Amino acid sequence: MNMIAKLCDEDLIKKAAFIRKEVVEVCVKNGAGHIAPSLSCVEILTALYYNLMNISNAPRWEDRDRLIFSKAHGCYGLYASLCDIGYISRGDWENFYKGSFLSGCIEKSPQHGIEASCGSLGHGLPLAAGIAFGAKLQKKNYKTYCIIGDGEMQEGSNWEALQFAARHGLSNLIIIIDNNSLQAMDFLENILTVEGRKDDLEVKLKAFGCSAETCDGHNVSQVRKTLAKFCEPNSGYNAPRALVAKTIKGYGLKCMENVPKFHFRIPTEDELKRGNRYE
Ligand SMILES: [Mg+2]
Repeated sequence: MNMIAKLCDEDLIKKAAFIRKEVVEVCVKNGAGHIAPSLSCVEILTALYYNLMNISNAPRWEDRDRLIFSKAHGCYGLYASLCDIGYISRGDWENFYKGSFLSGCIEKSPQHGIEASCGSLGHGLPLAAGIAFGAKLQKKNYKTYCIIGDGEMQEGSNWEALQFAARHGLSNLIIIIDNNSLQAMDFLENILTVEGRKDDLEVKLKAFGCSAETCDGHNVSQVRKTLAKFCEPNSGYNAPRALVAKTIKGYGLKCMENVPKFHFRIPTEDELKRGNRYE
């Protein structure tokens, strides 16, 4: 068994650009996929898979760190990463939706590094809290990470899971919120977030007993450093850790950034010609 190599910041930047390019090219070729929500969490996934997570070339290694990818509509950066580290084949990734076992939202497949089925919003964090609780009971050292969408945080199940995680002192649970300020086809502030209070997520997480911080979610070095701090041996703060990663939906394709209609829409040739940030 070989551990997956941990990249330096300079190489993480290059890797994120590669993953972003993969997402756009494969989804455009297939004519399917939620590209924009996939692009907002590329740096988060890159920091996890290529530096922070202890994982090996054996996807089911018992002591691996776990990632529960709750915002499963934006799963194409996850697929591209799992392909790149060798957990899923190139053919399966390139043919998602078209005969491959990979579907639009993720379905559990531990032999391919997919820890849980998600897609119905608000399912991932309760699962992650349960896994982290199990690790604590079994005195296992692995960490459980959970990536959640900011719109998804409207689901009550997340706040129930947070209460459970805080009550049981689950400092081995690390939550990352992809805070791109959009949900589906509109901005959070037009739906449930109180106007002018869109930055309240960190406050709410702290009120529910988490150790929470906010950072630039497209600065892979900042994401890595903040999460690495969370992973240091227990500093006496016995609680779940949460990162609010400030991101841009569609980041990387200039036609798509912060444009609500691109939640589930493939760019045209002309739109692609407006440029990108990954070449
Ligand atoms: Mg969002």
